[in-house]
Amino acid sequence: MRARELAAEGRDIIGFGAGEPDFDTPPHICEAGIEAIRSGKTRYTPTAGIPELRRAIAGVIADTRGYDFSLDRIMVSSGAKQALANVILTIVEDGGEVVIPAPYWVSYPEMVTLAEGRSVVVRTREEDGFLLDAAELEKHLTERTRALILNTPSNPTGCVYPGKRLEEIFEVLKGTDVVVISDEIYDRLLYDDAEHVSPLTISDDAAERTVLIGGVSKTYAMTGWRLGYAAGGKDIISAACRIQGHTTSSASSISQAAALAAYTVDDGSTERMRAAFDERRRYMYEFLNSIDGISCRKPLGAFYMFPRVSEYYGRTWGRVKVGGSSAFCEALLDQAGVAAIPGAAFGADEFIRFSYATGMEDIRRGMERFKDFLGQGS
Ligand code: PLP
Repeated sequence: MRARELAAEGRDIIGFGAGEPDFDTPPHICEAGIEAIRSGKTRYTPTAGIPELRRAIAGVIADTRGYDFSLDRIMVSSGAKQALANVILTIVEDGGEVVIPAPYWVSYPEMVTLAEGRSVVVRTREEDGFLLDAAELEKHLTERTRALILNTPSNPTGCVYPGKRLEEIFEVLKGTDVVVISDEIYDRLLYDDAEHVSPLTISDDAAERTVLIGGVSKTYAMTGWRLGYAAGGKDIISAACRIQGHTTSSASSISQAAALAAYTVDDGSTERMRAAFDERRRYMYEFLNSIDGISCRKPLGAFYMFPRVSEYYGRTWGRVKVGGSSAFCEALLDQAGVAAIPGAAFGADEFIRFSYATGMEDIRRGMERFKDFLGQGS
């Protein structure tokens, strides 16, 4: 917000805050939306979404994860965010606990609070790739645990869960009735030799307790179209649809038509976008790790770097002594015109998040400014 205000005042701000691709929605997807308007597909749709789109989503899941969902097990929503909120409201109530590995995406704990549940935050270790440790999970399970939220590839760390780690996690859950909400919205943004493994592929038990969350925002540059989905057990999905029916009715008919084009015609734009992200990721990774006192794990998915900056806490910029990620990001913005997100927002105050969904030229300038800024702290 403050970055936008400063930019509006004419300051030269380089923004690394964005959680969305800097690319436009591919033309064939836009055309499908325009065609939907022209041909009168502008009315209410079924609450769970048009059957053609749900069929296409079921097809993509079957192709990529080898798991078949009947159409009554898929709910199309106004973004993955609404799908998540509906599912959490369905599963959680009255102090029910939801295990959330930290660093986490900012909205998970807020959604749990909205459902009058309790977030049980479990720290992960940087040395362990920011992955949830199965033994740690076990320690935090109680009679009241309703759900576990997994996010692979992860926002903000870029970590990607290997199959073996998922196997260990699901082994711990055997015999419980814990639902796993698996947020896989970045599933096609992978780098190096990372592979996306979905809980749906781990075992029958894992697949049965999983609600898969996906959407078009990140992989097709469609954040403003507001289109995502949940796929899971029939009871959960039909209850989540009832919440949706009485809140938003359905996702936009126009966005559903556009998403159908995204899921059925591949014009290569996701791969082009991924390759551009990859180039930026490599550059930032090398640059950040070449700076004294900064360490950053190599992200294998999504489009974020999550460097540890806590070595610099206790130093002073201007007249401000910086003691944590919020003050650090404020000083970085004020002194150097570089916008980043404090790790505190993701439950990890030693870190900050840089998005690399921004052009290479700005990345180069922004990284130089970051380095100079660090040198100025005393
Ligand atoms: N899940 C994660 C991990 C995200 O980073 C985001 C967006 O930032 C979402 C879900 C929400 O995506 P959508 O735009 O589909 O609501």
